[in-house]
Amino acid sequence: MYGVPVIATGDILREAVAEGSELGRLAEGYMKRGELVRDDIVITIMEDRLDEPDVEDGFILDGFPRSFRQAEALDRILKEKKVELDAILNVVASSDTIVGRLSLRRSCPKCGAVYHMKDMPPKDDEICDECRSSLIQRDDDKVEIIRHRLEVYEKQTFPILERYETAGKAKEVRGELPIDQIPDEVKRVLGDP
Ligand code: AMP
Repeated sequence: MYGVPVIATGDILREAVAEGSELGRLAEGYMKRGELVRDDIVITIMEDRLDEPDVEDGFILDGFPRSFRQAEALDRILKEKKVELDAILNVVASSDTIVGRLSLRRSCPKCGAVYHMKDMPPKDDEICDECRSSLIQRDDDKVEIIRHRLEVYEKQTFPILERYETAGKAKEVRGELPIDQIPDEVKRVLGDP
């Protein structure tokens, strides 16, 4: 929507696991259990990614930072690059909504399109509308693991919100809205692209 790269640490880690690289081997166990991957690993990923030239006109981080150490590292990296953070989007939804969204989420392994089997289903059962590949469910989108990921969020990630609230950077997105209204909600919060 905003014409800048979206950098999702989860996507980078899942690709590494699929490739069977050293990074993937290090990360796989944590991801399966719904735990955070070690800070030093994800911080290195982010440092390397933000050295790429395509981020020069801006970027969106998805799923990073998720701990105090990561937030501190992000401050340092941005300072070194003389980049100012515009906003942190805090997507607010109840645990029940999140479990409902994630447990029925399916994604396309080829083009990355994401569906919800009840609220945003593909036209043909479990087949991607865009590229006709078979859709998959993430290993960590099982209800018990989702609940554990929420606990990890409460303990390790929620506390870092305060630093962005204090800095006046935290903006709330109403995640309870129907899925198809979320793009407009993001525009309301961030301004038009
Ligand atoms: P996500 O795709 O953002 O839901 O992330 C999926 C999984 O990847 C998480 O449950 C973690 O195991 C790992 N992960 C992604 N981003 C991070 C991060 N910033 N710090 C630690 N682990 C992460």
